[in-house]
Amino acid sequence: MNTQTMSNIDWLQKWYLSFCDGDWEHQYGVKIETYDNPGWSLEIDLCETPYRDTPFIEKKREGENDWIFCRKKEHLFKGSGGAQNLDEMIGIFRTWIEAASEETIPAATVKPRRLVELMPEYHPPLAGRTALRLDFNENTFAPSPRVIERIHKATSEDLTKYPEREPIERIAAAHFGLAPDQVLLTNGVDEAIHLLCATFLEPDDAALITTPTFFMYDVGVQLMTPHLIRVQADETLAFPLERFLAAITPKTKLIMVASPNNPTGGIVSREHLLAIAAAAPHAVLFVDEAYFHFHGESTLADIPNIPNLIVGRTFSKAYGLANLRLGMLAGNAELLRYVRKVSSPYNVNGIALECLPVALEDDAYVTWYADQIASGRERMAAGLRELGVGFFPSHANFILMKIGPLHAELCAAMRAHGVLLRDRSTDPGCDGYVRITIGIEDHVTRGLEALKLSLSEIGWTPST
Ligand code: PMP
Repeated sequence: MNTQTMSNIDWLQKWYLSFCDGDWEHQYGVKIETYDNPGWSLEIDLCETPYRDTPFIEKKREGENDWIFCRKKEHLFKGSGGAQNLDEMIGIFRTWIEAASEETIPAATVKPRRLVELMPEYHPPLAGRTALRLDFNENTFAPSPRVIERIHKATSEDLTKYPEREPIERIAAAHFGLAPDQVLLTNGVDEAIHLLCATFLEPDDAALITTPTFFMYDVGVQLMTPHLIRVQADETLAFPLERFLAAITPKTKLIMVASPNNPTGGIVSREHLLAIAAAAPHAVLFVDEAYFHFHGESTLADIPNIPNLIVGRTFSKAYGLANLRLGMLAGNAELLRYVRKVSSPYNVNGIALECLPVALEDDAYVTWYADQIASGRERMAAGLRELGVGFFPSHANFILMKIGPLHAELCAAMRAHGVLLRDRSTDPGCDGYVRITIGIEDHVTRGLEALKLSLSEIGWTPST
């Protein structure tokens, strides 16, 4: 877009909106303030955003409001540049940003598919995660030591060779009591969701989910069809079974249910999941069991009897392998044959594939980690009760806490104490909710201590 004819203030607004949608404003505390009087200043505080290294105004100098302080990659730009008013100051900033931006590169005229233009973007706050990570529901400790050993043994051939998925799928299938053609390994469950949507959804088909839930369902579905039906939970946040069943129509082609659910930690019982599968024989029911190890109930054993059931498992959580990107789809062999067609034969890297049998063999490790989570979850729940913090009863490795209007302040205070939380306030029906991951014993202790301090620092009380 040609922005040359825009006024400075319009340009600033467009620039700001180009990467600061309301969601980020919420999660990262992005703010822009302009004052005309007394004096004038402009402050854009993006220090906690993933855009740390892009050009931006960092801060106004303490106690002064007549100049701007910008950071462009490693170079600092300070001062008002001789500007006499706010408009001139923005103008200087604009020249600065435009010189560093891609505005000088001819704009592309090629458009993506319309649904790609319209689909939502998912930007988990990945930047600056050097503190105790209680924000992404990862394993907070380590994978099995056997996996680390295997990685250390990686050879040149392990890297030069294209990965071979099939032998490892046989091993995984045997481990889970399935036939090899009932298993497809994927690049995390994230990829599995994309593959399911690409395989089964025509533009006229509808997909059904409940909200709040994992956001990648939105992304995957809306890439294929505009017909995403969301059944919103009521204020209890429990799974709305009756309304969910009633939302199934002849157009429903894909149903995605996470149990335990993210971000609530709530579950849908096996009996209810089978009722959903039976109510929609013309649709694929994807049961996302990413958090299975922290709950224990599964529909995996129902695969031989339920022809429209596909179960998802991840190795990112209990197994501690989020960075290897390993997930699994298990289900009806005929349905999976179609999904396999859509998948790249090399979707999972060879190092991850080599590590999987080793990780699966070390059952004792996964059992130990799941036990840590079960006792840590109890301890965190007791701590929250003591503090008077409301929360949703969780069956996963996290707890969704009801903080209320001080949710962003709590996340900022916890960060200052070296603990990351995930503000879920922008999730549908989750205003004021913050999620905390449960880790190993020591991490729960640190999380709880920081929580006590932070709640008191921000002046939180059960009635705020
Ligand atoms: N499903 C749910 C419900 C999740 O919460 C997550 C991770 N946040 C995933 C799937 C994605 O897992 P993976 O790391 O295997 O892509």
